[in-house]
Amino acid sequence: MEVKEVDGNEWKYHGEGNRSMVVSHVQHCQVLRFLKFPIEHAQPSQALEEAPRRLKNIVDFSKHVMKLLLGDNFVQPGEVIQLPLDFVTQLALKIQPERSGSRCNKVMDAFSGYALCLPDLTKFQTCHQIEKRPPLCIEIKPKCGFIPFSSHITKDIKRHVCRYCMHQHLKVANGKWKRISKYCPLDLFSGNKQRMYIALKSLLQEPQNNLKIFKNGELIFGCKDDQDCLMDLNELANHLKAYFFPANGVVSGPQCTRTVISELIHVITIALVSNVDTCKTGDMKRTLVSQERSHCEASHFRKEALRNGIHVVENSGLPKGCVLSRILQVQMLDMMDIDGIYPLYLRVQQHIEDFPTDRSRLHLDGPYNESFYESLSDCHSQDDETVDYAAQKIHQYRVATTAKDCSIMIALSPCPVEERPEPSTIIQTSRACFVYSVSVLDLDPKPYENIAHQYKLDGKIINFYVQSMRGKK
Ligand code: ATP
Ligand code: ZN
Ligand code: MG
Ligand code: MG
Repeated sequence: MEVKEVDGNEWKYHGEGNRSMVVSHVQHCQVLRFLKFPIEHAQPSQALEEAPRRLKNIVDFSKHVMKLLLGDNFVQPGEVIQLPLDFVTQLALKIQPERSGSRCNKVMDAFSGYALCLPDLTKFQTCHQIEKRPPLCIEIKPKCGFIPFSSHITKDIKRHVCRYCMHQHLKVANGKWKRISKYCPLDLFSGNKQRMYIALKSLLQEPQNNLKIFKNGELIFGCKDDQDCLMDLNELANHLKAYFFPANGVVSGPQCTRTVISELIHVITIALVSNVDTCKTGDMKRTLVSQERSHCEASHFRKEALRNGIHVVENSGLPKGCVLSRILQVQMLDMMDIDGIYPLYLRVQQHIEDFPTDRSRLHLDGPYNESFYESLSDCHSQDDETVDYAAQKIHQYRVATTAKDCSIMIALSPCPVEERPEPSTIIQTSRACFVYSVSVLDLDPKPYENIAHQYKLDGKIINFYVQSMRGKK
């Protein structure tokens, strides 16, 4: 991929996460994804030394690991490119005012000149020339969709309440978000239309950083942080009614909002459960997750169902091959849970203290090539006390962690029903028709060293949750 324009005026702030800054081209369908560094460590020399290797690892991990696990259709690894330093410096200055205060403890890498170039997934190329309405894109960061099943777990609460629901309490107490979200990932990953409906509705009520909606590449719904949110459902419905009421664009009021929002949820649900390989959404093999692993006791689903007069039908499981099922399967490579992984991490740490050169033999920091991918398959079923067993389990855990943190992008391009495109590539509702595509992004490898941090954080989340629940009794 070639970057067509290296003029700062042609690029604008698009979004950022914890580890990268994304700018998009005002016209072309491209984004640049820069690394971020903590302000206190942002040394040009360090950036130059680290950035090319870290970016190469990101692309390799996407290409040789996540793409194989998630499926060809969903993953666009992009490529590492080198940009003129004056362009990057100008860009860093230009985007600064757009950034939220809570993100400013890190700075964009404006020092190395390296970045990733990716297709702009929020601007699905519309091939329908007569179509005036711009594309829509829904980004969902679903988080972990199952209850851990490892025998290494010591705290019983982890078998009942999912990680996301527990973490909410700590996040609100820390001031990261103002209110607790009612979203529970287990409902989204259930494959049950009613549970998915409640999950998506909860995301729309409290999007935090788990839901964003773009129109023509511009954010129209979602949060930068708790101070800076676009989350008015009436406004969203105003944006969307031209898509869902093509014949009657003037409707308004609460009834209109409700109808538009439930049409939107319907379309998102279809995209999430459709199998892009066979392009079918009908009855097909479902991935079944056992009852205990697919229900979270903190979920608001039953309460909401009662309140909305929904009769709960318990058919569950995701159609095989749909994006949610693919992601869930990779997440489930975490078989031991952090409770089982942490002792293995200590084993590896001890070993590399004694044999430092083994760090690279064990692929702890990549390279993420074919042999890393092969090392994921389960040849050690029993713990034989070796460091190789420990390293393999850690690799599986890290791959699963990436899948717990990725985002799904659903791009929708409206198409006039008269055009009758191939039925396999469209989502049709009673009033609308969209050509759609589904991708998965943010597939970076999580640093090996993060395991120690994850272990501590896990303890904190659980203790805080147990304490808050005690306070409520
Ligand atoms: P996190 O904190 O979730 O790990 P991150 O720092 O790894 O995030 P990304 O999630 O990759 O960063 O990117 C930040 C945001 O930029 C995304 O949430 C998404 O909205 C946007 N973005 C990233 N890549 C693309 C793309 N290829 N096309 C369009 N938008 C993108
Ligand atoms: Zn939950
Ligand atoms: Mg990330
Ligand atoms: Mg992200």
